[in-house]
Amino acid sequence: MASPTDPARDEPGPGSQSSLRAANEQRIISALRTAGPLTQADLSRRTALAPSTISGIVSILAERGLVRVDDEPGGRKGRLIHLDLEDRYVIGVEIGNGHLSLALATLSARVVGFVRRPLVLGADVATTLDLTQSLLDQLLTSAGASRRDLVRGGVAVPAPLDLHGILSSSPLIFPAWAGVDIATVFAGRFEIPFSVDNDANLGGLADYLWGAGQNSHSMVFVGMNYGFGAGIILEGTLFHGATGVSGEIGHTTVDENGDFCQCGNRGCLNTVASINRALELLAPIHPEIDSAEKLLDAAAAGLPPAIRVLTDMGRASGVAIANVVNLLNPEVIVVGGDLTRAGTVFTDPMITMATRLSMPATAGVKLLTTPLGERVFALGAVALALGLNSPQSLLLT
Ligand SMILES: [Zn+2]
Repeated sequence: MASPTDPARDEPGPGSQSSLRAANEQRIISALRTAGPLTQADLSRRTALAPSTISGIVSILAERGLVRVDDEPGGRKGRLIHLDLEDRYVIGVEIGNGHLSLALATLSARVVGFVRRPLVLGADVATTLDLTQSLLDQLLTSAGASRRDLVRGGVAVPAPLDLHGILSSSPLIFPAWAGVDIATVFAGRFEIPFSVDNDANLGGLADYLWGAGQNSHSMVFVGMNYGFGAGIILEGTLFHGATGVSGEIGHTTVDENGDFCQCGNRGCLNTVASINRALELLAPIHPEIDSAEKLLDAAAAGLPPAIRVLTDMGRASGVAIANVVNLLNPEVIVVGGDLTRAGTVFTDPMITMATRLSMPATAGVKLLTTPLGERVFALGAVALALGLNSPQSLLLT
């Protein structure tokens, strides 16, 4: 399992060159974690790897900022190799519909900063990158760090991606970024490697690692924002599907002759339940409610139409969840995203419908709201940047 932009995706599988190298990297990292700084000769003895293998892997890890090799003279073999995780950082970026979120974390996966700011719906690439840069610099300054300390980045986007990290399906779903190689554009702007994946996939990854999905083998995360998407983790592996677009439950058909959807089809779930749909339904009587935040605020203030529309969305979400439960029989379903922030007005009807329509044999499934809240997608981008999307993760052990 790997992200759409991870080169390792081209050569997966046990016994492949990439999995062998990942396993050797993990042995070296583990040895340095256990024993502290070691010379190459010490590392060779402790890991039973050939000195030439150690040398090659240490060079790669040094390039990625995971280890630091002393500069002192005394011969290359005598130099100490240090694990270098706490003062190097990764950035996770969530490009939302109407907002931008960033999470800054150390290479040891300690989150040291988070920020979320409004971003105009449909903002172009330059505007998005400018705001990312501004927020990134704020986070780094607060952490007492600088751009030089930044090693890698991850980006979560609210649209389906192909296996190369390019928007697939209809360009109308996320028009400003249609055809753009997102990882390359971010890498060019910030001069560090970036990876990119769909936001629901990364929400699932974050929740699996740090949220309600911990200790499960199979879970589905359902992101409920302007559209719906699912991140599917089967047997501990994030599942991307044959062409990278698994989990697009927002584009499953609920009414063949229903309204047109951004994907070009008709009657998709997103045309019946989503923040987009909620805003459309309210527009004739409350045109001032034109964003997720305003919708949630109106419901919290007790505005009856806002409460009604969120209740309806909750019921439709419950139907979608029951379909996922009946299809995949996961241990856990975790929901997250802006709609779930509405609280029980949304989640109570969702739970009622999900329970009513799930097969009795799936009765053990847990239905939970992510404890990671609005951070979940940016944290998933952090996990992607850290390489935690791989079962042979460097940093999980
Ligand atoms: Zn659709």
